[in-house]
Amino acid sequence: MDNNQMNKYDVVIVGGGIAGLSAAHYLKQEGLKIKLIEADKRVGGRMKTDNVEGYLLDKGFQVLSTAYPECQKLLDYDALELRNFYPGAKVYHKHSFYQFADPFKKPIDSLRKLNNPLSNFGDKLKIVALRNRTRRLSIEKLFDEKEMPTIDFLREWNFSDQIINSFFKPYLGGIFLEPDLLTSSRMFRFVFKMFGKGYAALPKNGMEAIPRQLAARLSEDELLLDTEVKQVSNGRVTLKDGEEISTSIVLVATDAFTASKLIPSFTKQVSMNSVRCLYFTADEPLDKQAILYLNGNNQGWINNIVVPTSLQKSYAPTGKSLISVSVIKPCNLTDTELYIAVRGELRAWFGDEVVSQWIHLKTYSIENAVPSQPTISYPKEKEIKPVEKGIFICGDHVHDSSINGAIRSGRITADAISWHLALTINQ
Ligand SMILES: Cc1cc2nc3c(=O)[nH]c(=O)nc-3n(C[C@H](O)[C@H](O)[C@H](O)COP(=O)(O)OP(=O)(O)OC[C@H]3O[C@@H](n4cnc5c(N)ncnc54)[C@H](O)[C@@H]3O)c2cc1C
Repeated sequence: MDNNQMNKYDVVIVGGGIAGLSAAHYLKQEGLKIKLIEADKRVGGRMKTDNVEGYLLDKGFQVLSTAYPECQKLLDYDALELRNFYPGAKVYHKHSFYQFADPFKKPIDSLRKLNNPLSNFGDKLKIVALRNRTRRLSIEKLFDEKEMPTIDFLREWNFSDQIINSFFKPYLGGIFLEPDLLTSSRMFRFVFKMFGKGYAALPKNGMEAIPRQLAARLSEDELLLDTEVKQVSNGRVTLKDGEEISTSIVLVATDAFTASKLIPSFTKQVSMNSVRCLYFTADEPLDKQAILYLNGNNQGWINNIVVPTSLQKSYAPTGKSLISVSVIKPCNLTDTELYIAVRGELRAWFGDEVVSQWIHLKTYSIENAVPSQPTISYPKEKEIKPVEKGIFICGDHVHDSSINGAIRSGRITADAISWHLALTINQ
């Protein structure tokens, strides 16, 4: 009997985040015998939603761009019942709110807000020019462009300090989860292209509905939850309880830190950006519009605020509103201290009368939210190789820090594994 016949599985995937689930889907499509092992009781990894007394609390505010090409290919958007945010934002600056609107999707709103003091006419023209330039380039080409910190890129384009500080910093900071915009300009251009082409959306049942949709495509034998993998080697995965599972290929789809523990030769240093997310509930909706609020003041803890119930009523029990507040600045405050500070800021933004009605539900402190990416290289499909004999890696940390990046990483690694197995069997 040859090696492949003795192996129980063709591929064992370690980690049931969106990258591992994507790989599982594509490997299954190739007719391979797979098993996905996830340490947690639920799939999803960093895309989780807790149901707390009928409130759907995403573990950190997170959105899907409807234009993500990998999501379009893999997910059933209709079944997710996606709803879109308004394409723009309200910026809180010196005690007033100023609305920004996407000039392509909301041209009339955009023109109406021409007197917005936070951007000048030149900024608007540059946004249009950048949008046109970005639209023409494929994602692969964008990730091949010269890179620099996003903040330098915006300055190179001569955007005014006013729009950089009051709009780009909180808007992009809320996506990169770092306030100084040191993330690679390649990521900025990707994000700019995606949110220009599509909409920021939330599924009806919370962000975890996305990984759950993929997990539902696996059979009972293909998915093992609540089981930590302790060791991997060529042809074998060892579980925490000592059980060994034999396999032709191991695909490590964990976070970077776990990947480097499981595979000592994988030494890539990845530092992670963090975020704290405070949830409040209210009886009165804050806004009829499903819009992102940004802090354009350059001071205070709050970076952005959203009201998920303004687009998905299912995020709260009937008649209730859910408010999510994100803090991205490095912050040593305890949860109570942060809650007090944030509540004070919310009072200044929306008034005492409104905010005194809000009840604090929960605070999430997510230390390891997304890999910080001062530089990014976008893996080419044909370049994926095993990191060690019989072992592959996928995940956002070897791609870009996004749902699209994690899914693409799963897909192209699955493709490489299929080729690898086909060639090995034919040898
Ligand atoms: C707060 C927050 C906001 C975000 N906002 C956005 C956004 O708006 N848009 C966007 O596109 N992206 C966003 N992201 C990024 C996106 O969610 C991630 O890039 C993506 O979910 C990463 O998926 P992954 O599968 O690579 O890793 P993970 O989700 O980390 O999955 C790894 C899995 O491996 C499992 N695992 C670890 N060790 C073991 C072991 N020993 N044995 C078995 N299993 C193990 C873990 O439990 C986990 O389930 C955000 C992320 C966070 C946290």
